[in-house]
Amino acid sequence: GKGLAVFTSGGDSQGMNAAVRSVVRMGIYLGCKVYFIREGYQGMVDGGDNIEEANWSSVSSIIHKGGTIIGSARCMDFIKREGRLKAAHNLVTRGITNLVVIGGDGSLTGANLFRQEWASLLDELLENNKITKDQREKYKFLHIAGMVGSIDNDFCGTDMTIGTDSALHRIIEAIDAIVSTAYSHQRTFIMEVMGRHCGFLAVYTSLCTDATYSFICEDPAPLNWEQKMCAKIQEERKSGQRLNIIIVAEGAIDREGKPITAEMVKKVVVDNLQQDTRITVLGHVQRGGSPSAFDRILGCRMGAEAVMALMEATPETEPCVVTLDGNQAVRLPLMECVRRTKAVAQAMADKNWDLAVQLRGRS
Ligand code: ADP
Repeated sequence: GKGLAVFTSGGDSQGMNAAVRSVVRMGIYLGCKVYFIREGYQGMVDGGDNIEEANWSSVSSIIHKGGTIIGSARCMDFIKREGRLKAAHNLVTRGITNLVVIGGDGSLTGANLFRQEWASLLDELLENNKITKDQREKYKFLHIAGMVGSIDNDFCGTDMTIGTDSALHRIIEAIDAIVSTAYSHQRTFIMEVMGRHCGFLAVYTSLCTDATYSFICEDPAPLNWEQKMCAKIQEERKSGQRLNIIIVAEGAIDREGKPITAEMVKKVVVDNLQQDTRITVLGHVQRGGSPSAFDRILGCRMGAEAVMALMEATPETEPCVVTLDGNQAVRLPLMECVRRTKAVAQAMADKNWDLAVQLRGRS
């Protein structure tokens, strides 16, 4: 059977295990020899025990677990050609020419580069007598399929990334818990949520929790946000509301592009309204815990689609990323989505927020 390997890279997220499980089982079902690569690209470069054949039961009892059981890492070695040469050697000697990468735009960019270089890497390995002529011929094409694991929902081309829904659940649970104490003491709570380049979590959280105000990066706060926010809080209190929730995304900014932090917001509330005001920074709690039903299903569907894309690939097929479009797992050109994602970040750096939102598209 064809050699196929799956690995997780970059930041972890809930639902990655469902995706890994799906890739392994779909691969086996379709007659592939399936491998795990542990610790992302580092495991691919280091080889040895990091690359291990998977069987049906090696992915039993993982679908409910958060994080990624096969480990993830950032890997400096893979940024250099020398590292990629070692990685190519480790794959060819095991007959692996199909890769499923689960990660963010960095990980997908690395995979694309690896594929572009594949022929020349194999030539170099042959020259150095690391592989045989037969191996050079037999494994001459590398196929790539990607999936995006990220709690921020910060990737272009997909309605949802794997992990976002679970992170939302985690945040909302935490806020519901805080609301009961805020109600008792008539407090204002400022919650910092993740999302450096994407306000998705902050916006959805605000909608789900009856928040008074939220700060994100794509729709920077007006320069008089202090007055506007205080007026809104006062208005709500006057109408009988006993508490206020304010959501601040990590990447929140004002119209001049200056960061807005939870501390700044607290100071404004305390100085102007003298309210009992507390900050909660959820941090890595958002990434933890078991994946939601949605993320488990998303991982399952995307994993199966990724394997099918690889099995149908011809030498001309460009690498794809499996994304969610409405209720369908679909294949999109990997680099086009990566380029758009980077263009969004650039537009935001240029303070062209309208363009950023337009480029990001749906959701
Ligand atoms: P993410 O995949 O979540 O965006 P990173 O940007 O940290 O996270 O990328 C994860 C890993 O992918 C890096 O540590 C590196 O090994 C690999 N990688 C990222 N960008 C490149 C690149 N341009 N060339 C080669 N490898 C890359």
